[in-house]
Amino acid sequence: MNDDTINPHAAELRPILEAIMERHREQWGDSTEWDALADFQRELGKAGWGAPQWPVEIGGRGLGVVDTLACDREFARVDAPNRVAVFGTNNVGPTIAAFGTDEQKVHLAAMLNGDEFWCQGFSEPDFGSDLAGLRTRADITEDGFLVNGQKVWTSIGMHASHCMLLVRTDPDAPKHTGISVLLVPMDTPGLTRRPIQQINGESEFAELFFEDMFVPASALLGPLHEGWRITMATLGFERAGVISIAGKLANDIKELTFSPEVAGASATVRQQVMTLYSDARILEWMGERALANINDVAAASAAASLIKQTWSTLSKRYAEVRCDLAGLDAIAGLAPEASRGLLTSRASTIAGGTTEVMKNILGERNLGLPREPR
Ligand SMILES: Cc1cc2nc3c(=O)[nH]c(=O)nc-3n(C[C@H](O)[C@H](O)[C@H](O)COP(=O)(O)OP(=O)(O)OC[C@H]3O[C@@H](n4cnc5c(N)ncnc54)[C@H](O)[C@@H]3O)c2cc1C
Repeated sequence: MNDDTINPHAAELRPILEAIMERHREQWGDSTEWDALADFQRELGKAGWGAPQWPVEIGGRGLGVVDTLACDREFARVDAPNRVAVFGTNNVGPTIAAFGTDEQKVHLAAMLNGDEFWCQGFSEPDFGSDLAGLRTRADITEDGFLVNGQKVWTSIGMHASHCMLLVRTDPDAPKHTGISVLLVPMDTPGLTRRPIQQINGESEFAELFFEDMFVPASALLGPLHEGWRITMATLGFERAGVISIAGKLANDIKELTFSPEVAGASATVRQQVMTLYSDARILEWMGERALANINDVAAASAAASLIKQTWSTLSKRYAEVRCDLAGLDAIAGLAPEASRGLLTSRASTIAGGTTEVMKNILGERNLGLPREPR
């Protein structure tokens, strides 16, 4: 797309983002440290671009999916830092907007400005795919809840200021009906967090431990015991984001395909890149189809599972080909981006629903196969 045909929202964002990036690079360089990423998010908030996809009434710009994707491409174009507020702005924020009290909706402005960073305390050591089985327990007291249990794999959990926490409030009810959602500041007494060291050397996840953590009744999001319905809404918002991630991968693969690096590679590697390229085009086409049907909730949800499944396996193959291109340098630590990319890519078929779970969803919803017993 050239400048004459640029999406109008992307065109509005472009000079603002370039100015932010210039200041950001001057102060932080290419740092991926939390303080640098949080500062970038605050700058976006100040400029009014913290969550352009949110409705105007709650501080967003009311952009639809197509316009948001066009803006995402601007972030990719300037090689912008990761937007670490996404768990709040993409997932938790829309959930609070849909189910929260007026008092709780105050968090939305704080998320937008980068004053609050939210994480999602869902998975537990024995309950990831089978999330509805979760055991972290919140006993109901006179004025709130007493929470005991553990969460794991909490993205940005070591830095987040707040957590959307799933707890079991009725241990005697069938598993999907005894869950509630609490909005919890991460400095609440009784909450301890520990980093998880990953294979790629980073520690983007935390384990959270709760020991008699008191949470006031005002922290309950939506009705008591109806947390599963609320969580499904959150996961729905999360899945919508997959179209954007898939679009980015397709662009990365296209760029790689036409790079001088590939032109000079062996016939075997060029063959691998061509296969990647044709799969990237299919992924792009799937994204376009999903966007065209975005208002049909059932079709959009089935498409999101198919895209997630295709994106995740393709992103692993892309990382492998990048290592093949780097050759021995990837093993010798001389091509850290390629080798780190390979290690990081392993998580793509787990995060946001594993490959097997996605296949179950596709079998049930797209092919009409019998549902898994619950
Ligand atoms: C990058 C990343 C970010 C994450 N961020 C967060 C976060 O912010 N907050 C949070 O709460 N969690 C987060 N998670 C955790 C993630 O949600 C879980 O890892 C995921 O749901 C899988 O759960 P599990 O790890 O317990 O694996 P399990 O559910 O134990 O699965 C183990 C294996 O069994 C298979 N399996 C399980 N059930 C079935 C089934 N019914 N049919 C067929 N096969 C099955 C799985 O596919 C997998 O291969 C994150 C994970 C990753 C990788």
